[in-house]
Amino acid sequence: MPTDLDAIAEQQGIKYFLISFTDLLGVQRAKLVPRSAIGDMAKSGAAFAGFATWLDMTPADPDLFAVPDPASLIRLPWKPEVGWLAADAWMDGRPVGHAPRNVLKRLIAAAGERGQEMKTGVECEFFLISPDGSEISDAADRQGKPCYDQQALMRRYDVIAEICDAMQALGWRPYQNDHEDANGQFEMNWQYDAALKTADRHSFFKYMVRSIAEKHGLRATFMPKPFPELTGNGCHAHVSLWQGDRNLFDDPAGKLGISALGYHFLGGVMHSAEALTALFNPTVNSYKRINAAPTLSGASWAPGSVTYAGNNRTHMIRIPEPGRFELRLADGAANPYLLQAGILAAGLDGIENRRDPGERLDINMYIDGHTVTNARKLPLNLLDALRRLEGSTVLGERLGALVPSYLKLKGEEWNAYARHLSPWERETTLDV
Ligand SMILES: [Mg+2]
Repeated sequence: MPTDLDAIAEQQGIKYFLISFTDLLGVQRAKLVPRSAIGDMAKSGAAFAGFATWLDMTPADPDLFAVPDPASLIRLPWKPEVGWLAADAWMDGRPVGHAPRNVLKRLIAAAGERGQEMKTGVECEFFLISPDGSEISDAADRQGKPCYDQQALMRRYDVIAEICDAMQALGWRPYQNDHEDANGQFEMNWQYDAALKTADRHSFFKYMVRSIAEKHGLRATFMPKPFPELTGNGCHAHVSLWQGDRNLFDDPAGKLGISALGYHFLGGVMHSAEALTALFNPTVNSYKRINAAPTLSGASWAPGSVTYAGNNRTHMIRIPEPGRFELRLADGAANPYLLQAGILAAGLDGIENRRDPGERLDINMYIDGHTVTNARKLPLNLLDALRRLEGSTVLGERLGALVPSYLKLKGEEWNAYARHLSPWERETTLDV
């Protein structure tokens, strides 16, 4: 992998680099750097005032430097003279311990010490809506069960094909695109890969989808539940753990083709599920997607309890085939780096402590969930989830400095929400 960004720019005709890092709330921050300055910037990083982003810093803190990772370079398919670079946050000569990409890299290194590498694929659902955000963009998209609606999919062919062409040109190996279960909702899938690469691509995908939608006069949103009666935006993750070319979750003799180590990893994710919800379902709005009543289409497709099953989409974890599991908990607001970091932290804990996920449940949780008396319920709101994260020794130890900073910023967000007086509150309380 060539690392001389100036030489790459010369070779590929790149005029500008977009040096980008992701803050704790999942917002991408960037500086646009001309090629003539990339040599120094590649070594020392681009300077930012950390307090101006969501990174739990103060105005008195010194410069934060975003040091670009040359391996992450992506030329913008819709503006090829610009090269996007994922960057790592540094301050005072050290990586910032609670910056999301650094947190993930630390966990990847911990797995690497054991000779293990997590690979994941993510399914980032999104809506195409009107620029003002008030409604879906296609007034004719009205089916009661709109999933896989051929007509509605093809009315958005120009947008979807442009994004898919871009992924093909970038070598992501996209393999399918569909209209999802809500009116106005789509999903596009590309090949799974190592966790850091998937996290970088997940970040870039959100940026790309928004940019290409804007180009077409539309707006894309990954908001967990933008329309109360419609299915929300999930971000399902497909997970496996590898040693070289060998998938350690694969075992033809194991139940559903999953190895004992695979079940321990899965058991670790289940063990920490309520605390992980604070990371995977990070907004006030997230809790309208999980624990939800059926939508107009007939199902929310989101979990409400900490359970797992075979090829059954009514549980938090599904084992669709040997060698991997699908975690259906996260939503479109999840920070791409903290999503991977959370799965890996909980999974490694599961392996080290031989966590037992118990027997799988082969029932329709949406209909028969009430018959399961010992299933733990997922947190009912953001505060509930933040308290579970605060109480988690597993995540506290493995995610380190991330947890107190994250709890602080998200606690402030919860308080801002709680201070907000809603129309519902007035309607139901004025005459009490
Ligand atoms: Mg989907």
